[in-house]
Amino acid sequence: ERIISSEADLGEISFETSLRPQTLNQYIGQDKVKENLAVFIKAAKLRQETLDHVLLYGPPGLGKTTLASIIANEMGVNIRTTAGPAIERPGDLAAILTALEPGDVLFIDEIHRLTRSIEEVLYPAMEDFCLDIVIGKGPSARSVRLDLPPFTLVGATTRAGSLSAPLRDRFGVHSRLEYYNSKQLKEIVIRTAEVLDVEIDSQAAAEIASRSRGTPRIANRLLKRVRDFAQVRGDGRIDEEIALKSLDLLQVDRLGLDHIDHKLLRGIIEKFRGGPVGLETIAATIGEEAHTIEDVYEPYLLQIGFLQRTPRGRLVTDLAYRHLGLEVPGG
Ligand code: ADP
Repeated sequence: ERIISSEADLGEISFETSLRPQTLNQYIGQDKVKENLAVFIKAAKLRQETLDHVLLYGPPGLGKTTLASIIANEMGVNIRTTAGPAIERPGDLAAILTALEPGDVLFIDEIHRLTRSIEEVLYPAMEDFCLDIVIGKGPSARSVRLDLPPFTLVGATTRAGSLSAPLRDRFGVHSRLEYYNSKQLKEIVIRTAEVLDVEIDSQAAAEIASRSRGTPRIANRLLKRVRDFAQVRGDGRIDEEIALKSLDLLQVDRLGLDHIDHKLLRGIIEKFRGGPVGLETIAATIGEEAHTIEDVYEPYLLQIGFLQRTPRGRLVTDLAYRHLGLEVPGG
């Protein structure tokens, strides 16, 4: 079981759902995004129109799905949820679109994974709220236009760069989620502890926050594991001592790096003298999938300045050498 996996597993989904803030006010951090959305939502409501399509991008676990359901809630409409890989044929998307009620939010997670032919169904749906469907085959085939109820598409992606330009351009609102700072994560930890009905002191919450890689999903996961530890080894209360002990047992270091981050950095240092080295080569060396490294591990290592991306590949920085307690080459 990994602390830093990208997606919530099955057992975790109901836990996460129970923790989801319901309104923009309860949603911690991302102030700029919230401020903009609040204005757009208010304006759309005043005009009694649907909200413009919204694209949310940023690393996994930062609150994109949560924000999508908050948008629906604030607009007072229902949300339908699907994901890029789940829509296999244009007909799958047509079925979803025609089942929408006026004003609904359609949330498509991992929207960068839609195929081209499905994107093409989405264009007229987003622009003119209609579907062009082809009936019949060969010379007798004809195209029929079907009206759809007005709706708001909320798309989420970890990679804004892999979205095709025509799709990206059809979103009126683009919101980029940022990593959370320790103060915000501490607030999230305290809020989650309340929901879980577990007592936690301020230092312990701060310790969990600082090891959460800027990511609420990881903060909540760590809290849950630490709670187990506090129940089994202590009296159920989470104080700093219990937090530190359990975080060490979980092999999450002071900056939130786990054994895979360590393997990744050490791999580049030991096998490639710190790089630069290509992503695929690193992946093969440490036995991880390239896309897992790229989507899940690397963004945070780049963010804290432990890795650099150069045209010739990934480079480990002096900061990382020092964090690992290794001598900086030539330094
Ligand atoms: P994403 O869709 O970006 O992968 P989620 O929306 O599923 O992330 O969020 C993961 C978990 O973190 C959820 O349990 C959610 O409740 C919590 N969370 C995310 N953002 C916030 C926030 N701003 N405030 C409080 N909890 C949050």
